[in-house]
Amino acid sequence: MHFRRAILIVSLLVLPTAHAQSSDAKARAEAFQKKCWESADADAAIAAANAGLTLGALKGELLSCRGNALENAGRIDDALRDYLAARAEAQRTGNRKLEASALVQSGYTRYSRGDMNEALADLQQAYAFNEPTSRNLALSYIAHVYADAKVAQYDKAIEYYQQLLPQYTAAGARANVADTLFDLGSTFERKGDFDHALTWYRQALEAERSLGRKGEEAYVKRSIGVTLTKLGRPNEALPLFDEALAQFTTAKDPDRIAIVRQSRGIAYRKLNRLPEAIADLEVSRAYFAAQKNTRFLEKSEDELALALAAAGRWQEAYAASVRHSALQQQLADKLREEHTTRMRVQFDSEKKEQENRALLRERSAAARIRNLQTIVLLLGAAVIVVLAFLVVKRLRDAQRMRMMALTDELTRLPNRRSVLASAEEQLLRSRETNEPFTVVAFDIDYFKRINDTWGHAAGDRVLQGVANACRAALRPEDRIGRTGGEEFLVILPLTRLDEALHAAERLRDTVEKLDFPDIDPTLRVTISLGVTEWRAADTTLEKIAGRADDVLYQAKAGGRNRVALAVA
Ligand code: GH3
Ligand code: MG
Ligand code: MG
Repeated sequence: MHFRRAILIVSLLVLPTAHAQSSDAKARAEAFQKKCWESADADAAIAAANAGLTLGALKGELLSCRGNALENAGRIDDALRDYLAARAEAQRTGNRKLEASALVQSGYTRYSRGDMNEALADLQQAYAFNEPTSRNLALSYIAHVYADAKVAQYDKAIEYYQQLLPQYTAAGARANVADTLFDLGSTFERKGDFDHALTWYRQALEAERSLGRKGEEAYVKRSIGVTLTKLGRPNEALPLFDEALAQFTTAKDPDRIAIVRQSRGIAYRKLNRLPEAIADLEVSRAYFAAQKNTRFLEKSEDELALALAAAGRWQEAYAASVRHSALQQQLADKLREEHTTRMRVQFDSEKKEQENRALLRERSAAARIRNLQTIVLLLGAAVIVVLAFLVVKRLRDAQRMRMMALTDELTRLPNRRSVLASAEEQLLRSRETNEPFTVVAFDIDYFKRINDTWGHAAGDRVLQGVANACRAALRPEDRIGRTGGEEFLVILPLTRLDEALHAAERLRDTVEKLDFPDIDPTLRVTISLGVTEWRAADTTLEKIAGRADDVLYQAKAGGRNRVALAVA
């Protein structure tokens, strides 16, 4: 389905790092894990993982790798099963890094087989883990989901890719930069904004050139060619297609050869160079037909019909257009089917069983009556299964809606309602058990100035940057939420005032060090913070939150970019 291969860098996350004082079994399991990730051949990788799994160490890591190998071998369901098992194992052993990367793997797999909602659920969870590498990977795949034609939230996808770009650049992750530039190009292309698509693709081309990834460079050339063709400039596209084709021919990559010949055929047709167009389209048609790749085949047949008709070869053109209509129908059916497959699988197996029984009892009238009863029962069961499915779906939708209602759209942090609810929960717990907790309120300094100088959109990006950085600077059990325009609230469970002071200082320092090179390299942002610990006399949330606000005001009045404490 994807001709530009997504690079799963999950291996980097779970490969062994510590070799010291590991037991013999663990050392051997590590060796198998390494071998599994490094085997180019899927069967060899699966064998290595299986051998490692008999040792009883690094179970989750080995499952994660075996899943990856199974996926490469096209065994998607088995792969998903391993990812889920890896995740369960990671949960059992408290390995957050592995849990996050297993979620990225299952999320990506679900995305590539078209289960967008499930994919989003996994990826959002992976993102929330705050493990830097899986977090960026998760965000990038979330953007893939939004950029998919079925979801078609292109602007959102573009926003996320643009958010990733400076992070990858700063980290020196050049391959990721190149991939993201390409993703931006293809998202703009899907959106129909070909001028922007071209700009991003050209940047991607530069990046691939300096990276020396010949195959990727050629694929970018092909995408530029397609975009130029769509812009009505097919003559500029032709040399790019020729270069790409030469590269894929050298690399013996039949998938990409077929796809470039399809693109070049379309350009030739637009230039009215019909014999060349027909030759290219025939070749790609034959390849996609042999591969049973309906999506690409449909395009080749369509273009072939047009080229043949333009050449006056009416009979062949008619035949191609008949094949094209049939494919279109097939694709439309498939789309419809995707929504009902799961229900039907259930129903089909019930139906088969019922038919087998019918054969056995055919001769006896009494049996036939029993059989009818069975049918009624089975149909009843099928109805129950369908209803249960609908109920589960409804529940899941409700859950998703609830999550959306509790999340701030811009920063993806918990919103005001959500963070106040957490605070209320903590307050109730502390009133019962007397356990300490601290509240930190903070507000960005002179934020109006940022909006006035660089515009509201830049202000929004600053808010996102501050939110991301602060979330990452806190412990997982801390809760941070956006309570207003540029105001945030943090709950630090089981934390005394002196420790909270350190946390607040860390937040202040983190924000002070942030830079926004894509807005203005000179732009610096600071925050003022008010910190207060829960006291037994605080029976309502208003009391403690009000006190945090009061000290925040003192921090502002004291000159900003500082932390103020409420001391008893
Ligand atoms: P200080 O807090 O240091 O006293 O000064 P300030 O300039 O930050 O003052 P104030 O808190 O009154 O200003 C907040 C500004 O934030 C006003 C409003 O236009 C802006 N704002 C609120 N919500 C958003 C938002 O979602 N995006 C952007 N870009 N601006 C917002
Ligand atoms: Mg402010
Ligand atoms: Mg304010």
